[in-house]
Amino acid sequence: MRWSQTYIPTLREDQSDAELVSHQLLLRGGYIRKLGAGIYLYLPLMQRVIEKFSRIVREEMNRAGGLEITMSVLCPATLWQKSGRYDTVGKEQMRLKDRHEQDMVLCGTHEETVTDLIAGEVRSYRQLPLNLYQIQVKFRDEIRPRFGLMRGREFIMKDAYTFDADEESFAVTYQKMVDAYFAVFNRAGLDVIKVESDTGVMGGKAAHEFMLLVDTDAGEETIIVSEDGKYAANVEKAEFRDTAFIEVEPDLRDTEVVDTPGAATIEEVSAFLRVQPTRLVKTLLYMADGKPVAALVRGDRELSDVKLKNALKCNELEMANEAQVLDITSAPVGFAGPIGLKNIPIIVDPLVEKLTNFITGANQKEKHILNVNLGRDFKATRVVDITEACAGDLAPHHDSKLIAKSGIEVGNTFMLGTKYSTTLGATFLDADGKEHPCIMGSYGIGITRTPQAALERYHDEKGIIWPKSIAPYLVELIPISMENENHVAAAQKVYDALNDAGIDVLWDDRDERPGVKFNDADLVGIPIRLTIGDKSLKENKVEMKARAESEIALVPLDEVVPAVRKLAERLK
Ligand code: ATP
Ligand code: MG
Repeated sequence: MRWSQTYIPTLREDQSDAELVSHQLLLRGGYIRKLGAGIYLYLPLMQRVIEKFSRIVREEMNRAGGLEITMSVLCPATLWQKSGRYDTVGKEQMRLKDRHEQDMVLCGTHEETVTDLIAGEVRSYRQLPLNLYQIQVKFRDEIRPRFGLMRGREFIMKDAYTFDADEESFAVTYQKMVDAYFAVFNRAGLDVIKVESDTGVMGGKAAHEFMLLVDTDAGEETIIVSEDGKYAANVEKAEFRDTAFIEVEPDLRDTEVVDTPGAATIEEVSAFLRVQPTRLVKTLLYMADGKPVAALVRGDRELSDVKLKNALKCNELEMANEAQVLDITSAPVGFAGPIGLKNIPIIVDPLVEKLTNFITGANQKEKHILNVNLGRDFKATRVVDITEACAGDLAPHHDSKLIAKSGIEVGNTFMLGTKYSTTLGATFLDADGKEHPCIMGSYGIGITRTPQAALERYHDEKGIIWPKSIAPYLVELIPISMENENHVAAAQKVYDALNDAGIDVLWDDRDERPGVKFNDADLVGIPIRLTIGDKSLKENKVEMKARAESEIALVPLDEVVPAVRKLAERLK
C-alpha cells in the first residue's frame, strides 16, 4: 500500500482526552477516532491490526474445534427474560423498542442467543460436544467508558460457547480452550497469566481471566499472586490466610460505652483509644437491592464489594448514603455498630468471629462501645468471607506470601454449568434415552481491547512498536526523496519484490521531508523500516532497521526479501 493512497491522519500534538499512552498513540498514529463516549471508529491501520489479531484468534479457535458463526447483535428481550438476565444485567444492557413496541436488546454477550439456537435442534449426545464462536461487535452501556478501546460501549469481541454431555467431556473442552487462549496471546507477543475470577453476572461455577500485567494506570484489575506463582486470582475473588497477630482474651469483659469526640474513622478511633486497628470492628452499611444490610470486617482490613454482593446474592449493592445511615442507626456516619441494629441482616467476616472484647460504633454520635463480643452482644446472620485479600497475606492453601499486581483483562473463560441450558431448554438424550441439560462454557477475548493493551507494553517515547504478528504492515518503505528518480525507481523495485513475496509493505510515497516521514514511521510503529537514499544506492543497497532497535544494516537491493524475512524471524 502506498501512504498517499491510504488514510493515516497522524497528529503531532498530544491529545488531551487520552490518559493512557496506548490510547494516545492510537489517536496520534491515525489508528482510531472518537465519535462519542466509548464509541470509536477504526481507521485503515487499525482495521488491519484487528484483521491480523482476528486471524490469529480464528486459527486457534478452529484448532480447538470451534466453528465460526455470526449471531445477530439485535435480540428480542424475551430471550433475556427467559434466562432471568433481563433484570440482573441492569443498565449496562442497551435496550430499545422497535416500531411494534417490542422490547429489544443490543447484545453485550450471546449466551441466550446461542443456547436458544441449539435448543430443540441438538437432540442427541452424539451431536456433542459442540463449540460455536463468533467475532463480532458488542454493545454495553458501560458506567465508565474510558481509555479508548480498552473500555468502549461498542467494541469487538470473540465469544465462544461450548456444549458438552458430561463433566468429563467438558473438562477436556475447557482445557482445550485455555490452551488455545495461551496460544493466541503468545502469538500476539503477550505473556498473559491466568487467574481465578469471580463469575459475576454470567453465573456458573468457576471462571478464569487472562491478564496482561502492567505497571501503568491501564491496569484496571488488581491481581493477587503468591510469590512462588502457584496462586493467582483477581482480588475480587482472591482467598487468603491472615497473618496479623491477634490476642484472644479468654475472659469476656462487660461492654462499656465511651466518648470518642471527633473520632469517626478507624485511624482516629484507634489513635484516640490507643489501641491497634485490629481491635476495632468496622460496621459498614449497604443497600442491597434497596434493603439495608450491615457488614462487619476487622478494623485494619477492607471489605470486598464483590464478595459481599456474592454472599448476599443481590443485583445492586450500594453503600448507604448519609440519610440512610441516619435512618438505620439513628447516628451520623462513622458510629455504626452491630449492637441494637434491628431487623437488618448482619454479615460477619470470619476474621471478626475470631476476636474477643472488640470495639465497635455505638450507634450514637461520637460514642463507641468497648468489649463487644459476637454471640453474647449481637448475633451474626451469617459468617462469610467478605474481606479483600491484600499484599502480605498468605496464599489460601500453601505458605507463600501474596503480592498485588495490576493487570488488563484481555480474555476470560467461564464454566457456566447448566444455568442457560436449563432455562432455555438446551437438552439432549443420553445413550439410555434420558434427557439432560447441556454443560456449557463461555469464552471471551477482547478483539479491540487486546491490541491496545499490547501497546501499553510495546512503545517508546517516539511511538508504537508493534509485535510483528499484529502490526498493520511488516515493512515501511521510505525513499528519502520522491523527486529523485533513482530513489523512486529503487523503491518501486523493492515494493514490488516485497508484494510479490506476500510481505505487507507500506510505502511512504508522500512528498514530505525525510524528518516528517521518519517521525511518522516511529509513531505508527511498523516493525521494519527500509530507507532508500543516495548513500546506500551508490552501493545498490537499502538501509534496514528494526523499529525496536537502533542498528542499521545495509542490504543489497535484490536481497531485500530474504533479509526482511530473516530480521522478522528474530523480532518479537
Ligand atoms: P471487564 O471486567 O473488563 O468489564 P468483563 O468481565 O465484562 O470485562 P466479558 O464480558 O467476559 O468481560 O468480555 C470478554 C472480553 O471482552 C474481556 O475479557 C475483554 O477483553 C473484552 N471486553 C469486555 N468489556 C469490554 C469493553 N467495554 N470494551 C472493550 N473490550 C471489552
Ligand atoms: Mg464488564
